[in-house]
Amino acid sequence: MTDRYAVIGNPIAHSRSPAIHAAFARQTGQDIDYSRLLAPLDGFPATALTFFGEGGRGANVTVPFKEAAFRLATHATARATLAEAANTLSFSGGELLADNTDGPGLVRDLVHNLGAQLQRKRILLMGAGGAARGVLPALMAEDPLYLVVANRTASRAETLRDHFRPLGIIEASDYADLRGLKFDLVINATSASLAGEVPPLPPGLFAAGSLAYDMVYGAAPTPFMLAAREAGASRWIDGLGMLVEQAALSFALWRDVRPDTAPVLAALRTELTHTQA
Ligand code: NDP
Repeated sequence: MTDRYAVIGNPIAHSRSPAIHAAFARQTGQDIDYSRLLAPLDGFPATALTFFGEGGRGANVTVPFKEAAFRLATHATARATLAEAANTLSFSGGELLADNTDGPGLVRDLVHNLGAQLQRKRILLMGAGGAARGVLPALMAEDPLYLVVANRTASRAETLRDHFRPLGIIEASDYADLRGLKFDLVINATSASLAGEVPPLPPGLFAAGSLAYDMVYGAAPTPFMLAAREAGASRWIDGLGMLVEQAALSFALWRDVRPDTAPVLAALRTELTHTQA
């Protein structure tokens, strides 16, 4: 019998997760059906519970329901508990397990796919929303020299700093106070790119050999990538690799087999370029 999975969000029509999981299933010989589920903004629990009640085995959860997914679960992995947000739900024996593969997915893309070294490096995480919260524990686990969270609304950066302080040296900042600081890795975890905007990148922000990483992805370089190039970053990349890597980790949790992400990422990159060219 075909096992059923879904990605739940609002909006959801744009999601590339069904294509990614279908490719993983073909590659590993797994018999799954993976669909998109639109949940009403005030109706995530009902949508998710109906899906699992009708036989769904697992779900990915995207904007804006990751915190709600964590709250709905009956138990959670340590990394989801730290983030207080889940992007992966597994249903088995009447229990709903919450996990968060966003952080490990990002780190896998940075370290394995892009060859970035995080240990003893200076990291700037721009943004303090759900995505920043989800990836912070995995970044700190790589033992950076320090991590600065900067956000338009500085109080939200301070909240993240206070929450994750036990994990290592974390500072909070607003954008103005970044002047004079230098980083080896600058991650854009804001949604500014979606509105064609970019958080300010003061001169001198990028150290020699630095990498600028935008969690947003697209057919063309994002506004953040273009601004980072202009501001002196050595390399710049979008978040398509993170999308594929977090999906692979969810797939491995559900199916107990780890797909090879490289061909799926390459195919998705080609498809993205062609559909939007
Ligand atoms: P949230 O809505 O939770 O947070 C949005 C963040 O962006 C806040 O920090 C907000 O600042 C900031 N922001 C919004 N607009 C601007 C702007 N014009 N200038 C500066 N800062 C701005 O969103 P998420 O954290 O869930 O997602 C952030 C992005 O990451 C999204 O674009 C999402 O698509 C992407 N993402 C990609 C993934 C991948 O696999 N590649 C996985 C997860 C997320 P403030 O607090 O001041 O409002």
